[in-house]
Amino acid sequence: MVPELKSKIAIIGGGPAGCSCAYFLKQKGFSPAIFEKNSPLKTLLPTGGGRCNLAHFEFDIKELVQNYPRGEKFLYSVFSQFATAETIEFFENIGVKTYTQEDMRVFPVSDSAADVRRCMLNSISGIKINNENVISIKTCNGGFEVKTDKGAYFFEKIVLAIGGHSVFNIIKMLGHTIIPPHPALTALETKESFSNLSGVSIKSVKATFNKKILTGDILFTHKGISGPLVYKISSIMAKEKFPYEIIFDFVGDINFQNVLNNNSQKVVKNILSDFIPKSLAKHILLKAQINENLKGHQINGEIRDKIYRYLKNYPIEVMAPVKDGEVVTCGGVALDEVNPKTMESKIIKNLFFCGEILDIDGFCGGFNLQNCWSTAFVAAKGIEKSI
Ligand SMILES: Cc1cc2nc3c(=O)[nH]c(=O)nc-3n(C[C@H](O)[C@H](O)[C@H](O)COP(=O)(O)OP(=O)(O)OC[C@H]3O[C@@H](n4cnc5c(N)ncnc54)[C@H](O)[C@@H]3O)c2cc1C
Repeated sequence: MVPELKSKIAIIGGGPAGCSCAYFLKQKGFSPAIFEKNSPLKTLLPTGGGRCNLAHFEFDIKELVQNYPRGEKFLYSVFSQFATAETIEFFENIGVKTYTQEDMRVFPVSDSAADVRRCMLNSISGIKINNENVISIKTCNGGFEVKTDKGAYFFEKIVLAIGGHSVFNIIKMLGHTIIPPHPALTALETKESFSNLSGVSIKSVKATFNKKILTGDILFTHKGISGPLVYKISSIMAKEKFPYEIIFDFVGDINFQNVLNNNSQKVVKNILSDFIPKSLAKHILLKAQINENLKGHQINGEIRDKIYRYLKNYPIEVMAPVKDGEVVTCGGVALDEVNPKTMESKIIKNLFFCGEILDIDGFCGGFNLQNCWSTAFVAAKGIEKSI
């Protein structure tokens, strides 16, 4: 007997998590009110470089959860209710056909985040979206008083979906613990300047940091380093102290002496350019104080070892995340205070959470939006169950 509760549910935050939760509630016959201080789903527009990487083509939950440096255990229970297959079906149902790239990232066929936004907004047509900034939420008379910049309202149930970039006072007022937010998935500022290499990318670089080894692609920027491998490292290291060191191996397994023997008449900057971009070759030779025009046969053992050290073990001191450049934040509502089977607060009855507001964050590849869709579905189901 659902209708009794119509409009008695407020969703605070009209981002991907809040709007998908509204859709799942609507499917169950509810008519929640959304409170959004900006335009609804505006935060979806820049995702995937404007193409919206909405999921990752991974159907094994054990594998899927490994892409979340924070939230892995919690999400196991969430994903057992709603994961990749259900996400693709959800989007099909609202008119978004998807395809999977070679790297397993799932995109809309239109390659347009704006198109996904349009379909999502259509799917929740009829649901009231209040363009209001929520300032406080207090428990009262078995429900909640929601104060905004425009008025005060009473609701019986609340879904908090204000994202990870918000001021968390509202949640603290309700008595929940907030794990301090840190930028995750960022480019990194380095002590050494690579501005002369800005825009140069290198594939399959091996990185050693904090006793971990990862391989992937990097990009030099005017402030330091970026690219998929760097984003992953920034995510794993999000809560660590700066500065920290990353050692890059640019060349993998090569027999450098053989390379020199086979190129005895070639100048060293050109020899290195067979393995790494020429600009990086010149940078390394300058750093090692070696004449870039030495020929292969002029390179003795000492010079060879000096060059090889930089090719195999290039140390980079990371000073900070690039300011305001994060894709997601780690931190947020402490997971031990939320029931992963319903997304309901363990502290306050009838209070639910979904999306990035939680202390959950994933790597690049569709994992962060997957967290939004899945926790939104479980919250909607939790609300239905709570009646
Ligand atoms: C550039 C960029 C690219 C990205 N690309 C991808 C990608 O391709 N794939 C992927 O999986 N993830 C991607 N992400 C991450 C993904 O966008 C986020 O994880 C996701 O948007 C989180 O959704 P959310 O609804 O939880 O929070 P948000 O998107 O932050 O939405 C929260 C909403 O709540 C509103 N709000 C906040 N406080 C209040 C308040 N007090 N009152 C009223 N309204 C309020 C905000 O205005 C906002 O609209 C990307 C992020 C960025 C920045």
